[in-house]
Amino acid sequence: MSCLFCRIVSKEIPGAVVHEDADTLAFRDVNPQAPTHVLVIPKKHVTDLSEAGDPALLGKILATAAAVAKSLGLGDYRVVVNNGAGAGQSVFHLHFHLLAGRAFTWPPG
Ligand code: 5GP
Ligand code: ZN
Repeated sequence: MSCLFCRIVSKEIPGAVVHEDADTLAFRDVNPQAPTHVLVIPKKHVTDLSEAGDPALLGKILATAAAVAKSLGLGDYRVVVNNGAGAGQSVFHLHFHLLAGRAFTWPPG
């Protein structure tokens, strides 16, 4: 299995998991961009948001992000999806970044 995040799902590679259910996994980013930086992913391999196409699954991922934010006691937070290399995507297994613990500017730049 070549996909990094599929390997984290299968526990072949360790991840600092903060939430797991039948459809989603949430684990801490190895290179955090904020004091709290969690990645929320579908367990099923989906390359990116544009390929996802499953509203129920996308809803579950967002609901997981909100549940993790609540369970970690986060205040304000930002959820980001980078779709495609030009937008900053470097791992091609869909993931939602959950970021908190510092101020965020808007527009993001
Ligand atoms: P992207 O740039 O694709 O939107 O985000 C990929 C994220 O995955 C990056 O924030 C990067 O730090 C994180 N990442 C890359 N490799 C690993 C890893 O092996 N473990 C974890 N926990 N995060 C990773
Ligand atoms: Zn994958």
